[in-house]
Order: sequence, then structure tokens, then C-alpha cells
Amino acid sequence: MALLSTTDFPLIIEKINDFSHGRIDLHTHTHCSDGSLSPQTLIDRAVNYQIDVIAITDHDTLAGIDIAQRYITEQNSPITLISGVEISAVWQNFEIHLVGHNFDKNNDQLLQLITNQQQAREQRAVTIGEKLAKCGFPDAYDDAKKSAGAGSITRAHFARVLFAQGHVSTMQKAFDQYLGKKGRTSQKAYVKPTWCSIEQAVNAIHVASGSVVMAHPIRYDLTAKWLRRLIVHFKESAGDGLEIVLPQMNPQQRQTMLNYCLEYDLHASTGSDFHQPNKWSDLGKNLILPDGVKPVWALWS
Ligand code: AMP
Ligand code: MN
Ligand code: MN
Ligand code: MN
Repeated sequence: MALLSTTDFPLIIEKINDFSHGRIDLHTHTHCSDGSLSPQTLIDRAVNYQIDVIAITDHDTLAGIDIAQRYITEQNSPITLISGVEISAVWQNFEIHLVGHNFDKNNDQLLQLITNQQQAREQRAVTIGEKLAKCGFPDAYDDAKKSAGAGSITRAHFARVLFAQGHVSTMQKAFDQYLGKKGRTSQKAYVKPTWCSIEQAVNAIHVASGSVVMAHPIRYDLTAKWLRRLIVHFKESAGDGLEIVLPQMNPQQRQTMLNYCLEYDLHASTGSDFHQPNKWSDLGKNLILPDGVKPVWALWS
């Protein structure tokens, strides 16, 4: 971990830099989008795991932040919550996720972008439902909507419905057969989204005084050449950093991501992308940043 001089930073930064490894998680989901836990249960789990600093980064919604913060205050929980969001953007026909941190969640421009993204989500969900109905699943939209409740509706909700009703044997197959897009090939119920651009997302978070990292660069279905193009575009759009540490990365992937940060002078972030308890990863596990990178929280002075 690259430790910063704590004297220059407010208490929260001191707290993060003071941790003896593994007690930070800057990418998590709750049932306000496609996570399975409530914000309160997520906070309890994080406290159990002795996580000092957590960001809730639900898809295109800020709804979980206040709920979690109220709970932390009520319970006097020993954890610091950072405002967070994962914004979906479109670039060159690819869906790219951007994680914003430590922003003013009452900023009008950011709230407007969130409203637009919510409308795009709702419209896309309706069209996905129509396509799935044509595939023989007439109730898919209603069931997915019910499972999303008041939260942000995602393809993961549709995938769970198809899985729960036995139409596919895994969530992955729901994406492979119906909801996903691999390279330039779309599946039967894929709907081209109308997300904002990378520039718009970065700008909205910056206007709200936050920082922006590109989420999970290793997970996009891009060749090395296209990933570089994406990183160059992100950098030109004033993006601040890359999420270079996720659970289940191999050493070579870790090294490649570290190299991109150094080569393009970008900060580094780390997070589990926790959605639900499973046996492969959990909150705050294996999330130590490598030496030599500038952590994204260095921007939060
Ligand atoms: P959306 O933002 O509506 O496009 O939904 C994408 C969400 O679905 C992601 O955030 C993941 O949580 C989940 N997801 C995407 N691809 C897969 C996959 N292949 N298997 C399981 N879940 C996936
Ligand atoms: Mn998700
Ligand atoms: Mn994502
Ligand atoms: Mn995520």
C-alpha cells in the first residue's frame, strides 16, 4: 500500500491510510440496485469483517447512501461510509461502468443525470420484457420489476427471474442466451441501452466534487488494443483512475492494470463489487492496492 502523509489530509484519509490492509471496500451493491442485502445488512456485514471504510456504489442510484448513513449513525457503527455510485455509460457501442466516489449527493447536475439514467433503465426494462415475452416468458417484466421493487432495475433482475423459473440453469446462461452481448453479437433479449457518455458521467461526478474511476477494466469484452483506446478516451474525458484490484484477479492481470495506471498517470481504486454472499469473494477480501500506485482517496483531501 502506498501510504500518504496523513498530516495533509482530513480524518477520513488518516483512517484509510492507517489500516493494516484489507479494511477498505470501494465497490459494493445493495438491494437498492441488484445486490441482495439491504444497506443496513451490508453495513452489519462490513462491520463484522472489520472494514473501516466502505462505499455503496449501486447502479445509477444514490438511494442506499442515506439509508446506510442513518443506520451507521443510529447504531454508532465503527465504519466510515463514502458516497458512491456506479454509472453505466456507452462508448463505441460498449457498456462501460464508471464508479464515482466522495461526491456531494445533493448536487443538481448529478441528480439530473441519475434521473435520466433511471428513465433509460425503466425503458430498457420494458423493451427487454417485450423481447422475453416473444421468447415465451410473458411474465418476465412483471417479475423482474417486483424483485427490483423501488430500486434500480437491472438485467441481473431479469437473469434471476429466468434462473428461478428454471428457464436457464445459471445466471451466466441467462446472459449468454438472452440478455447479453458478446463482442458485436447480441442475444435474443438484448436491448441497446441509451446510457450517458463517459464524458457526461465524469463531468457530473466532478461537478459534484467527487472522483471517478473506470470500474473493472478487466471485465469488458475488449482486446488489449481496444482497452487501451478506452483508457485513453477515459483519460481525455478527465477520468481520475482505474479500479485495478478486484477479487479473483490473477497476478498477470494485476500487473497489467498496475502498468496502465502508471503509464497513463491514473489513480487506483479497489473494491469487491459485492452483490451477495458467495463462496468466491466477500466484502473487503483481497483488496490491497499494489505499491507504487496513487490511491484514489489521495484525491479526497
Ligand atoms: P445492467 O446494469 O442492467 O446492464 O445489469 C448488469 C448487471 O448484471 C451487472 O452489474 C452484473 O451484476 C450483472 N451481470 C452482468 N453480466 C453478468 C453475467 N454474465 N452473469 C451474472 N451477472 C451478470
Ligand atoms: Mn450489478
Ligand atoms: Mn459493473
Ligand atoms: Mn458493480
